[in-house]
Amino acid sequence: MLEIRQLKKMYGRTAAVDGLDMNVREGALYGFVGPNGAGKTTTIKILTGLLLPDGGSVVIGGEDAVAAPRKVVEKIGYVPDFFGVYDNLKVSEYMELFAACYGLYGLNARRRIMDLLGQAGLEEKEDYYVDGLSRGMKQRLCLARALIHNPPILIMDEPTAGLDPGTRYEFKEILKDLREQEKTVVISSHILSELSEICTDIGIVEQGKMVLEGTMEEILEQINVQSPLLISVYRNREKALDILRSHPYVETITIRQNDIMAGFTGDGEDEALLLQQLLDAGVMICGFMRERGNLESVFMQITSRDEGRVLIREN
Ligand code: ADP
Repeated sequence: MLEIRQLKKMYGRTAAVDGLDMNVREGALYGFVGPNGAGKTTTIKILTGLLLPDGGSVVIGGEDAVAAPRKVVEKIGYVPDFFGVYDNLKVSEYMELFAACYGLYGLNARRRIMDLLGQAGLEEKEDYYVDGLSRGMKQRLCLARALIHNPPILIMDEPTAGLDPGTRYEFKEILKDLREQEKTVVISSHILSELSEICTDIGIVEQGKMVLEGTMEEILEQINVQSPLLISVYRNREKALDILRSHPYVETITIRQNDIMAGFTGDGEDEALLLQQLLDAGVMICGFMRERGNLESVFMQITSRDEGRVLIREN
């Protein structure tokens, strides 16, 4: 439904998107996750035709988004991460404005607007001023507006940011409705836990690249095989790090307070040998286990690079 290959976007010398691949299946509820600055908003702006890429291809519903942006825009509903200011505009007027942008007027527009306001739980608010609505209501209005032309794909940038738990629950209910209407939905967030329980598919982006992508089942399966070793060092941490850095089965090292998380490709015997090697070198260890695979820990490993704390072995 949505296919991105080797997407690139530079801002001066900064590569905001740096060879990103992305594949969203029809009907998926796709969580596009990554730390702040990973390139999510830039990617979304390219998808929605607001920015031109410097390289790569974007195909949406079979149409080339770069060569034929107008055709693609019709297929997409976009909910940005800001709402904007609409002084003295009532809810119904706001919706009429966007309906007119898509050539919908008169009775057709009225029917469509009432239908969408009903879905968003805002039918009672049509005579309210937009600027007076609560944060959650504004977001639902923004969603209603994005659906005015009945697009098959909906793209939402950080929709859960700043929502209180009650509003977040309402939001999840709305997502369920959208799935029932067979929409394909892409939601971006820098907080994985907000998406992992609702999404069918996840793509984790870091420094402008896709680092992990698939259905929830595929990703969890992959993670279980790849879950890291969690080593709690009581004394001599530097020595432990030296050993881990030069170990052939250690692929990544993340430091979390007193614990070291090591991406380890060896089997049980290799683990036992590593433990022995650490003890023989005088490292005092108070915990040594393979952490059970979960998406949060993988995401932490990826995103803690932000703080310069992941040391990747150089081959
Ligand atoms: P995210 O949405 O994941 O937080 P962005 O796409 O906003 O990431 O940003 C990706 C990178 O591009 C960041 O390093 C950011 O500072 C940079 N960036 C984004 N927009 C601009 C801009 N208009 N001018 C210069 N740099 C930008």
